[in-house]
Amino acid sequence: MSTVFPPAPVATVPVAGRSERFPVHRIYCVGRNYEEHAREMGFTGREPPFFFMKPADAVLPVEAGQTGRLPYPSLTGNLHHEIELVVAIGKGGRAIAAANALEHVFGYAVGLDMTRRDLQNDMKKQGRPWCIGKGFDHSAPIGPITPAAQAGDVAQAAIWLQVNGQDRQRSTVAQLIWNIAETIEHLSAAWELQPGDLIYTGTPEGVGAVVRGDVLEGGVDGLGTLRLQVV
Ligand code: MN
Repeated sequence: MSTVFPPAPVATVPVAGRSERFPVHRIYCVGRNYEEHAREMGFTGREPPFFFMKPADAVLPVEAGQTGRLPYPSLTGNLHHEIELVVAIGKGGRAIAAANALEHVFGYAVGLDMTRRDLQNDMKKQGRPWCIGKGFDHSAPIGPITPAAQAGDVAQAAIWLQVNGQDRQRSTVAQLIWNIAETIEHLSAAWELQPGDLIYTGTPEGVGAVVRGDVLEGGVDGLGTLRLQVV
């Protein structure tokens, strides 16, 4: 096949302990999936999960032991961090039952759903899509993917984020409103999942702004840490 210009390279994420990398197909994100975060955003109660997407090439992969560089994005004065457990899909499927969902998981990673909160809030008020607030370039930093068999009990793991060494977010994955398997069930009812899909599962309470020069370090127990500087 010839193309009118070279196709864009596939975005990839490192895999812990392996030289092969994980090729990204799509990035799905779950909104308001921890109760205390839903509260801080002005919502209460359990609602069905809802989803938004980021472009696959919005991933900002950070190699093990490295400090990534996160460019401060344009058009915002309120860039927020959202630390999240990321589920990496290894086997696709549609209408996947929660009981079988974990068979579709390749592994897990620590990610950040970076958000231009001022733009997202403007779009919310106007009933417009969130894309400009959520789907910008480099908006999906992610550390190495740990294969599921080596990841330990992710469902109960601590999840945390520090900015310049100070705690901003600290919770456990057990606080998810819709757990990993339920999220895959809902998501695969709406889209056919493919190997290479990433699911950012939502953030606990404590979201807040960062500025140029800040160092973000976050983790999920068993999956290592993700470290970035805003530049
Ligand atoms: Mn999020």
